[in-house]
Amino acid sequence: MAIERVGVVGAGQMGNGIAHVFALAGYDVLLTDISADALKAAVALIDKNLERQVSKELISADEKSAAISRIATTQTLADLGQSDLIIEAATEREEIKTAIFSELQPHLKPETILTSNTSSISITRLASNTDRPEKFMGFHFMNPVPVMQLVELIRGIATDEETFKACFEVVERLGKTSATAEDFPAFIVNRILMPMINEAIYTLYEGVGSVQSIDTSLKLGANHPMGPLELADFIGLDTCLAIMNVLHDGLADTKYRPCPLLTKYVEAGWLGRKTKRGFYDYRGETPVPTR
Ligand code: NAD
Repeated sequence: MAIERVGVVGAGQMGNGIAHVFALAGYDVLLTDISADALKAAVALIDKNLERQVSKELISADEKSAAISRIATTQTLADLGQSDLIIEAATEREEIKTAIFSELQPHLKPETILTSNTSSISITRLASNTDRPEKFMGFHFMNPVPVMQLVELIRGIATDEETFKACFEVVERLGKTSATAEDFPAFIVNRILMPMINEAIYTLYEGVGSVQSIDTSLKLGANHPMGPLELADFIGLDTCLAIMNVLHDGLADTKYRPCPLLTKYVEAGWLGRKTKRGFYDYRGETPVPTR
């Protein structure tokens, strides 16, 4: 089936990036969020990020304005009814995602493909609560979406070949590269990445190193472009904790136990860059370690 109209649910860090890359690739995008402020901020950010691409001569000014003109916003989920493909990128909580798909369902065309950008929640379980498990899969973008090349494509147990092929072709049209993962907790990237971040937080918690020494060690000692604590702040500490909980619950292995210090930061509302405080404090000109 031809995919031209794309509905994106959730206009946070990921949703705005997803809307950006789809619009640039020529898709008509309808972006929705429960928060009017999030929608306003997303459109402003997309404009700014596209402008940055223009100034780096990655795209032309005409391509930028064409992309902007392809993005519309709404606070009414039902408006996404005519979409050929839905990408859900709302908060990483299963009950929120399930409620979104249930509310959407009566408004959708029978052939509409449903996908979730979830970092960790079972695609099979999300799919089983919809009327189309065979037309449901995981469409997992990396942050920041306009920059990162990878998209993980996750098949649920019921995902049919036609749906997989349609999503695979979408990734090609976006000019990105896909990697296919089976549906097990946190898939491939986060199954490997999150335990490393969690271990970095344990290293801090146990006093083995400071925020700075841990990040410097991994940057200069393992050639990582960002330190694990800096990266955790970038991803969002609530998202990191949610993923560790999915690994811990889903694989029932104590090696995935979320570090109590990660829980404490989340309880404090210090969620990383998005709240201006996490393992670093971003309220000043340069980030300052908080431990
Ligand atoms: P975010 O907190 O930046 O944004 C989530 C948005 O969802 C918010 O704007 C919120 O208002 C909106 N929302 C909440 N409930 C909603 C509803 N019922 N209907 C519509 N919108 C709703 O989160 P994010 O970092 O963009 O993450 C979104 C999804 O992407 C999560 O599933 C997350 O696991 C996944 N993800 C995140 C990253 C990352 O690095 N942050 C990477 C890959 C995937």
